[in-house]
Amino acid sequence: MNYEQLFDAFDREHLWHPYTSVTNPLPTYKVKRVDGCVITLADDTQLIDGMSSWWCAVHGYNHPFLNEAVSRQLKQMAHVMFGGLTHEPAIALGKRLLSLAPPSMQKVFYADSGSVAVEVALKMAVQYHYGKGNSKRTNFVTIRSGYHGDTWNAMSVCDPVTGMHGLFGPALPIRYFAPAPVSRFGGEWIDEDIRSLREIIENHYDELAGLILEPVVQGAGGMRFYHPHYLVEAAKLCRDYGILLIFDEIATGFGRTGKLFAWEYAGVEPDIMCVGKALTGGYMTFSAVMTTEKVGQVISDAFPYAFMHGPTFMGNPLACAVACASIDLLLSYGWKEKVLRIEEQLRRELMPARNLPQVADVRVLGAIGVIEMKRPVNMAQIQRRFVEEGVWVRPFGKLVYIMPPFIISEKELTFLTKALLKVVSEMNENAENDD
Ligand code: PMP
Repeated sequence: MNYEQLFDAFDREHLWHPYTSVTNPLPTYKVKRVDGCVITLADDTQLIDGMSSWWCAVHGYNHPFLNEAVSRQLKQMAHVMFGGLTHEPAIALGKRLLSLAPPSMQKVFYADSGSVAVEVALKMAVQYHYGKGNSKRTNFVTIRSGYHGDTWNAMSVCDPVTGMHGLFGPALPIRYFAPAPVSRFGGEWIDEDIRSLREIIENHYDELAGLILEPVVQGAGGMRFYHPHYLVEAAKLCRDYGILLIFDEIATGFGRTGKLFAWEYAGVEPDIMCVGKALTGGYMTFSAVMTTEKVGQVISDAFPYAFMHGPTFMGNPLACAVACASIDLLLSYGWKEKVLRIEEQLRRELMPARNLPQVADVRVLGAIGVIEMKRPVNMAQIQRRFVEEGVWVRPFGKLVYIMPPFIISEKELTFLTKALLKVVSEMNENAENDD
């Protein structure tokens, strides 16, 4: 490996990377190109990608069909404002989204990123209650171990400890947090799990606009897979107390969990649903918030007779065009078989890690494989080891996990899981990995 080519001095000195120090940053490896499931570094080192660029690149990278969609759209219109104007890519994407979403979803709002989608969803819930003449219902309840993004209100509903925004606590609006469900996906449902949420709702429903959660899979807040029955119970409570149910499917959407969307595991429809990440196949930032006829109606029937949000790049045609192509591609190539094959293989090849003394848990759902360590990993060290082994895996805290592109071959996936097991088994059970 040629470290001089890999670590750029300007980058190190001036560019801030996600969740890093700007004076003493973790190493950032310079990428030259990406194709399929392969990331090629500046020194020609090739890495098999285990991350899909944080849930996004489900079709792998540099896909000719998606490239073509962007190029075709670029020749006509990269962008035009969405205020007072519309265009075919936005319409075509709306039709596709509504055909895939829960049937009650009827109205689509395009936004810029996952976090902004969450902001929009929360605003929608507040404006809905305002429209119903109840301006006191402005707060939210959520469950611990959640992650909903980096912007202000999105941060406020992230887990206050694992959600990465703990230090902002005193600056954020105070939300209600129920414990994360302990009933595991695939395990027994424990009735006790819903008690705390019920108590919060019973005691505070008159100030609650909505309940927001990631259905079934909690991502960046802990990579937890919980029992879908929690959603059934939560939905009942929301209905009984007039609270809007908001599903954040930004990470879970578009097949990742083995269903097209995770709500399908519970058969429970939300009032508002956010999608993002894999929406554009990982090509560019974009998201959508969908809601019901009723929510749209209530918001629009009351002063100011409009939903009060409208970002500059709303409905960006390039993003809409590539999102249409990504959805078409997903539906054309048997995504479900691919995800189920990955799931089986991950189960077979990762489960042996359960026997390692330094491992607390191994879990797999859809195309997501998680090895939870007993102690936090040393990021710089483990990252380097993965690169040396020829794979791209980016752990956080105690979680070493992969969510590869759906197009990964059996051989590439075995290469990834072998590297995972090898690096994890090198870690010392007792020593503080986080030195
Ligand atoms: N919600 C969930 C469930 C997420 O996983 C993320 C991103 N990790 C977000 C929201 C925020 O999305 P973005 O980073 O695109 O703002």
